[in-house]
Amino acid sequence: MQSRVALVTGGTGGIGTSIIKRLAAAGHKVATNYRDEGRARAWQEKMKAEGVEVTMAPGDVTSPEQAESMVREIERQLGPIEILVNNAGITRDTTFHRMKPDQWNDVICTNLNSVYNVTRPVIEGMRERKWGRIIQISSINGLKGQYGQANYAAAKAGMHGFTISLARENARLGITVNTISPGYVATDMVMAVPEEVRAKIVADIPTGRLGEPDEIAYAVAFLVDEQAGWITGSNLDINGGHHMGW
Ligand code: NDP
Repeated sequence: MQSRVALVTGGTGGIGTSIIKRLAAAGHKVATNYRDEGRARAWQEKMKAEGVEVTMAPGDVTSPEQAESMVREIERQLGPIEILVNNAGITRDTTFHRMKPDQWNDVICTNLNSVYNVTRPVIEGMRERKWGRIIQISSINGLKGQYGQANYAAAKAGMHGFTISLARENARLGITVNTISPGYVATDMVMAVPEEVRAKIVADIPTGRLGEPDEIAYAVAFLVDEQAGWITGSNLDINGGHHMGW
């Protein structure tokens, strides 16, 4: 197994932390961005105590300039980025008829524009070196929609169009581009949902439980593997059977 340089945006979050650990365990050099230096350093120390060295660079993924400087800083420290996981994301839930421009724009900028901002400074190097793995962390709700999430579902659905276009443009250059669409995973994002709403969601999941962050990370490790070179333009649903078919 070749050791690669991997950037996971939003690596300090629930799913991101598991992806970082999985990729590090597979022998890759791992990096992520941060916005709050104090919180980031505390997280980095915790990772170190668990034996995981994470390179960190400041960067808000909604800003093209910050995303580019974050990429360049990581490349300065570790070398060219070969694996990119676009994982940073937020929710600002409300029904559409109440949705304020900020609630729309924040979610589109963080979940979709970020994909442009971070992938753009990474893709040319991958094309030159003729190897790359790009994965978008989308959502079950980008496929089936969700009450109160017109902004989030629009951004997450947009990731699919991005993925299949980028996959076509780069398929002959050894670069695979795929999307993972998790269902409801037990992270802060989902635990913030009121308990009675969460109970209804769980009752609707055929496996009868929320997903674990590591179950998403497992799929990322699968898609970045050298042997996954013919998997491109795919979407991998990981949702306990919550949404099946097309
Ligand atoms: P968390 O809230 O735990 O983590 C989100 C991460 O994104 C944090 O590290 C956060 O950093 C970072 N982030 C948010 N905004 C920005 C920004 N503007 N610039 C840089 N970093 C930013 O979320 P999860 O781990 O639960 O979710 C990870 C991804 O998985 C998201 O894209 C989410 O939409 C998706 N997903 C999650 C599901 C779930 O059930 N949890 C289900 C389906 C999809 P900071 O600490 O600075 O805020």
